[in-house]
Amino acid sequence: VKVKVAINGYGTIGKRVADAIRLQPDMELIGVAKTSPNYEAFTAMRKGYKLYTTKENIQKFQNSGINVAGSIEDMIKDSDIIIDATPGGVGANYKKIYQEYGKKAIFQGGEKSDVADVSFSALCNYNDAINKNYIRVVSCNTTGILRVLCTINNFDKIEKVRGTIVRRAADPKEVKKGPINSIVADPARIPSHHAKDVLTVLKGIDIITSALVAPTTLMHLHTLFITTRNKVSKEDLLNILSNTPRILLLNTEKADAESTAEIMEIARDLGRYRNDVPETVIFEDSIYTNGNEIFLMYGVHQESIVVPENIDAIRASLNIMSRDESIRLTNETLKIGK
Ligand code: NAD
Repeated sequence: VKVKVAINGYGTIGKRVADAIRLQPDMELIGVAKTSPNYEAFTAMRKGYKLYTTKENIQKFQNSGINVAGSIEDMIKDSDIIIDATPGGVGANYKKIYQEYGKKAIFQGGEKSDVADVSFSALCNYNDAINKNYIRVVSCNTTGILRVLCTINNFDKIEKVRGTIVRRAADPKEVKKGPINSIVADPARIPSHHAKDVLTVLKGIDIITSALVAPTTLMHLHTLFITTRNKVSKEDLLNILSNTPRILLLNTEKADAESTAEIMEIARDLGRYRNDVPETVIFEDSIYTNGNEIFLMYGVHQESIVVPENIDAIRASLNIMSRDESIRLTNETLKIGK
């Protein structure tokens, strides 16, 4: 039997997870829910997804010519687990309803960590999420940081992390966000919340982050300075990072590419669906080691990096596959690393 999955909140993250669910041999998409009858609702209908909305909004959707399969409660009742990809903070309000119907749920990084039993990053703590009813997939930035840190930490214990996150100002579809001509210290106060979010998964490390926002929509870019207990060589690092699923090394010299724009162009040239890059893309030539110090830089495609994490979180919650089996199947079906 397939796991019945519903998507509450069919926006940037929800629509990608919906498409990913349809590619999983062990999952069935029950339907998707949203509150505004906009173009995303139309395209969901065109794709043949069953669409649900709040009771108050059903008439509004029908008036816009969008067929509605029922209320969000109907969708919840028909599912085993809900991917909650509603806007940040909204998911916490839905938790009561999921609980009322005895359903499991996966929340996103815009929620506070206490919404769930565990914050999740597949490479770091899949096993902690096994059989948990409420799991929170950490944010795009935190997912990017954790993939790198957990990989290095498994090789040699990390003693300290200092990092700077250059965030994209808006997703490509967002027309009302800025800045458009400034780099903003956001927050100007150190540490930024990202360090705290990393600690929800990789507990007890010494980490401080700062964050800026730049006028771009393509990707985030991080630079990390890590110290490990022992001396690490660049060769060792290249070896472990290139053998880690969901991490790609971009040889900036050979590719003659050293920007987020060029990473996205490669995705376009490869014909990737929606130009998505769910991998953490490390600039290979940025990897620098000196004794027990490591520097590196990488890009994070905010719209897609958490998609495979949501799929793995479902399997962990229902305990239907081991970590390695789930990561392998998710990567294969979503063509990650290809
Ligand atoms: P979005 O605005 O693109 O989509 C949200 C969707 O939820 C919309 O379809 C909207 O119609 C629907 N919605 C709004 N209120 C609702 C309600 N009360 N009930 C049901 N549906 C409702 O948002 P997003 O960017 O996909 O973000 C969703 C979550 O994912 C947030 O927690 C966010 O922090 C997190 N996240 C976003 C990104 C990103 O870069 N966009 C990356 C990682 C994590």
